Amino acid sequence: MVNDQVTLDGAIAQVLDTLDGPISMQEFYQKVLEIRPSHAKNPTASIRDRMRYGWYHKIAELDSDTLIPMRCLMRGIRFAVPLSRKEVSQGLLLTYPAFELYLPREFPLSEVKLLDERGNTLPTRLKSFKETVETPLGSTEIKREGFELSTWFKQHKVKRGDYLLVTTENWERGHIRLEHEPAKARQRRQAEIAARNQEFADHVFDLLESQREEDILTGKAVPTALAQMSDPYGYPGDHWMQILAKDPRMRSDGWMIRYSDWRSPLESILLERFFEEEMVPEVEELPLSEEAQQQVYRFKAALKYHKSLWRRIEIQGGQTLVDFNHILVNAFRHDWDHMGGFWKRVRRGNTKRYRDIEMGDVDPMGGGSGADVTIASLDLTPGDTLKFVFDFGDWIEHILTLETITVPEDNVQYPRVIAQNRPRYRYCQSCKEAGRKTIATWICIECSNREGQDVLVCEDCLYKHHEDHYADEIVY
Ligand SMILES: [Zn+2]
Ligand SMILES: [Zn+2]
Repeated sequence: MVNDQVTLDGAIAQVLDTLDGPISMQEFYQKVLEIRPSHAKNPTASIRDRMRYGWYHKIAELDSDTLIPMRCLMRGIRFAVPLSRKEVSQGLLLTYPAFELYLPREFPLSEVKLLDERGNTLPTRLKSFKETVETPLGSTEIKREGFELSTWFKQHKVKRGDYLLVTTENWERGHIRLEHEPAKARQRRQAEIAARNQEFADHVFDLLESQREEDILTGKAVPTALAQMSDPYGYPGDHWMQILAKDPRMRSDGWMIRYSDWRSPLESILLERFFEEEMVPEVEELPLSEEAQQQVYRFKAALKYHKSLWRRIEIQGGQTLVDFNHILVNAFRHDWDHMGGFWKRVRRGNTKRYRDIEMGDVDPMGGGSGADVTIASLDLTPGDTLKFVFDFGDWIEHILTLETITVPEDNVQYPRVIAQNRPRYRYCQSCKEAGRKTIATWICIECSNREGQDVLVCEDCLYKHHEDHYADEIVY
């Protein structure tokens, strides 16, 4: 039925109601357009955008072409909730974090219906109480809620450390089935649980890697990862929050998932203020063996936006980012009086995107967070790349590609430049007018701007004709 009055959200909701499983995105857009025709140039784009930002809590993406209504995906999903001492002694099942993301957003807890293993309704009521928690900014009182289950707990002889296996029978209506699993029974299936946890964590991490941004909403990542599991409705691994808390690759505040080396602006400010430290991820400070210190790292260093300008540089494992900065500044003839910074570039999954992990910076006096960071501690293997930025004002970016790691040669001083691009010389215009051919080593910025073309001169002519002019050295 075509209806001009219906909104885009209304049309999406109508189509969603008719679905009972996965559907291709194209088919979904088509159904929405049947209800709400559009004359836009690219009508599916606006539907897609609306769904990504306004509907992610009701629709999960199985892959880039398929979506599934959350109520279908979550029907029958199982998860495990470890019971704390407090819960067992008071006969309570705390709602947070147990049901986080396992119920529709803002679902009223008072309407949750708990069922026993046979599907009979469990008599319960919602109890709330205040709890004091410690935060970095002092202690604060928070409101907590839990389902009163003391009779059922007693019947099942529930003990601290036991688990509840939870099945979402009906996600939309908040129908949840509980089974008691004694700690010992769960212990016996540890290998199976570990495998499931790993599979889940890998799906979440792949989702994070595939994002344009370096974060993803838990509300998007967790359901999608659940849907991607080889057996989403099988024996449950641990709760998603526990799995993410233990994964060294990621961290989550419950709302967003980010790479583990990410720091919030608040964390950075607090840490810098109290510890006067820059937020650089800790590089493992293992003492380097003599061999590791001696090893020679051969890098090809190129300007990012002028790749034909490159230098091949050798530096030893025991040398630091100060040494590296120094030879790079000389090799590319940069002014010495600026900061230099190093980042490790890590490819994100199979994408063409990289993320940069700060390794440290170096000031002109040889200080800075990178002062004591050795080349060996960067943990590089051939093919890895670093980003080197010189002068945080002009932001001159270089890509440093590690080519090989070899043993040092006798009687050689490292670091050293062993090769560079074949220079394409340009010649001094003043000398040319006088009938001489001299390589230009300077560009007069002032004259170039005035004449609207590059004014290139040799050093002699620079002093003779452009003495007070602002000029830049030419690098070949
Ligand atoms: Zn000249
Ligand atoms: Zn000039």
